Amino acid sequence: MKRRDFLKGAAVAGVAGAAASTLATPALSQGMRELKMVTTWPKNFPGLGTGAQRLADNITAMSGGQLTVKLYAAGELVPPFESFDAVSSGTADMYHGADYYWQGKSKAFNFFTAVPFGFTANEIDAWLHWGGGQQLWDELAGGFNVKSFAAGNTGVQMGGWFNKEINSLDDYKGLKIRMPGLGGEVLRRIGAAAVTLPGGEIFPALQSGAIDATEWVGPWNDLAFGFYKITKYYYWPGFHEPGSTLACGVNKTLWDGFNSEEQAIVAGACMAENNRMYAEFNAKNGAALDTLRNVHGVELRQIPDPVNMAIGEASGQVVREAGESDAISKKILESFLDFRGKILAYSKLSDQAYANARLLPFKY
Ligand code: CA
Repeated sequence: MKRRDFLKGAAVAGVAGAAASTLATPALSQGMRELKMVTTWPKNFPGLGTGAQRLADNITAMSGGQLTVKLYAAGELVPPFESFDAVSSGTADMYHGADYYWQGKSKAFNFFTAVPFGFTANEIDAWLHWGGGQQLWDELAGGFNVKSFAAGNTGVQMGGWFNKEINSLDDYKGLKIRMPGLGGEVLRRIGAAAVTLPGGEIFPALQSGAIDATEWVGPWNDLAFGFYKITKYYYWPGFHEPGSTLACGVNKTLWDGFNSEEQAIVAGACMAENNRMYAEFNAKNGAALDTLRNVHGVELRQIPDPVNMAIGEASGQVVREAGESDAISKKILESFLDFRGKILAYSKLSDQAYANARLLPFKY
């Protein structure tokens, strides 16, 4: 029996308060499911791990326990980078992670997290919900028996931590920098030696000199890792991840078997967490930036425009090549480029123009 049908019946019968909840238990237990959510994040990792936990808890609460989601941190049930396969095969029911980790299956997955000089958080949500992006994501992930949702965003990431200034393209030559994904490929094109390292290995690698520089996320997460202790300059902005979407992927066989109420709960909880996590990153990045500057004396530096011009050219090439790797990537690239053209024209006159105007030195 559906929960709402039961409650309706209970109301008609005049059953109220404690009596109703006592009677409800056996009826509810028949439709209850316990779902396993695996993640690519360490347990309670700020923003990402805690956001995944909130999502699990909200699905459980919104469904009145009909869908009870138990969260497993990276490595607890499966290794982090096997989360997608676990959900695809049904070993786990859902994952919370970043879909660019699955680019070995199709480069097209990059477009649903972030691509260099691609969409901001607001823009990718516009593309996903109103620009055909979600349908393309469903087509891509559906091929692997996964139904995907946007379920978090980091906002614009920072450019990274360096021990020398970046004044020209030459300063990237031979620089050993931690930057994963398409962003790392862009830096290799301009002469840097970009490498991929999991979060927990970055600090020791910087300390030993195995790498010269690193990106991670933004002030909040970077302060937690302590990069300010061993590097001098904190560069902005991060061209490589302008608004990284975190994904919740659900086993599609399970999803197709959900009733409409269960589907609405999972979709609604994902959309709520998408907004809540972005808000949390923005709020906590502002406070952490203040600490880095004023308590730890970190020197902020802007990546010079001529350097961004060269990085932008290389980004365009790398993104197009990624979009030409298979048939579905091609379709996704075309949709991305078309939407990017239109939204950039509008963002220039709206968010961007307003933010610039607000920085004029008027008294306020
Ligand atoms: Ca990053």
